[in-house]
Amino acid sequence: MKRQVKVGIPRSLAYYSFYPLWRVFLEKLGAEVIVSAATNRKILEEGIRETVNDACIPIKIFHGHVFDLAGRVDYIFVPRMISADGKSTFCPKFLGLPDMIRFTGSGLPELIDARYDCSGFPGGQFRFFFSVAHSLGVRNPFKIISAAASALRRHREYNLLLSKGLKPAEAREVIFGQKQEGDYLAGSKPGGQGKAKKAVVALLGYPYAIYDSFISAGVYDKLVKLGVEVITYDQIPLREMRRISKQLPQNFFWYYSNKVFWAGLYLLEQKKYIDGIIHVTAFGCGPDAMVDKTLELEAKAAGVPFLGLTIDEHTGEGGVQTRLEAFVDMLCAKRLQSRAG
Ligand code: SF4
Repeated sequence: MKRQVKVGIPRSLAYYSFYPLWRVFLEKLGAEVIVSAATNRKILEEGIRETVNDACIPIKIFHGHVFDLAGRVDYIFVPRMISADGKSTFCPKFLGLPDMIRFTGSGLPELIDARYDCSGFPGGQFRFFFSVAHSLGVRNPFKIISAAASALRRHREYNLLLSKGLKPAEAREVIFGQKQEGDYLAGSKPGGQGKAKKAVVALLGYPYAIYDSFISAGVYDKLVKLGVEVITYDQIPLREMRRISKQLPQNFFWYYSNKVFWAGLYLLEQKKYIDGIIHVTAFGCGPDAMVDKTLELEAKAAGVPFLGLTIDEHTGEGGVQTRLEAFVDMLCAKRLQSRAG
């Protein structure tokens, strides 16, 4: 690259799972990475204006993030997310995302829409890295492979931090040197808070829903403030997820849906560790129509309280707070009852 190009990464969707991988790779190639602002009212309204009506809220918000970057960067990073495990795919809206963005608005910078497809790993993954590098005019294979190796290393570290209970924002701060792992672990590792919690809740949902506090009306932080210990699918060991997946007659087709469902089944199997399940789902999400109902039925069969929280652009903080308080009160009462019995 002749001059340092600026690549914008929308702070939404796969960003929550792959940001360190993308950022490290792009920076190692010599690009400057700029991330869109945290989701806010303006981003939401712009996203709603620019997206088809029946899209789910995460897709609408993604469009808003793209427009937040327009005018500030040379390229916008919108990879076509096909498969991260070589087995399942991302939902159809992920698959068509670069096309949706391209046909949405004029005046957008060029998109980097390399296919992320880990089928035939590691070949598929390296095709992605080469494709991104070529979009930026980088052709030196040694430089590309070295950048990819650094990025993959950081990606593994990031996943390890998530598995220890750090939220993505916290893990990013550790990965990029703003904080130490120890600054967070005592307060966020399951069971590591040092004082008894009112209840333990599995907060299940796609990472771009539960970790974007604007979309989810801050459900994660609200639960923590209510004295609840929160477990997400990131904390479930991969080997356990694999074991659960092999026991099922049929898995879902979609990557994130499987993770949510396997985590739910694992926690229900180990139900002594959780008092209840909250499933955050986006209005209009096709995959969740199945995941939500199936999870609810499994929870009912296991006798574990279940709350489905559907979010859309009209979701209000007050309504979510009231429902969470009622759910947590019910879990606490159930705990007391079982101790008395
Ligand atoms: S999985 Fe559901 S919420 Fe996520 S992008 Fe697809 S339709 Fe939207």
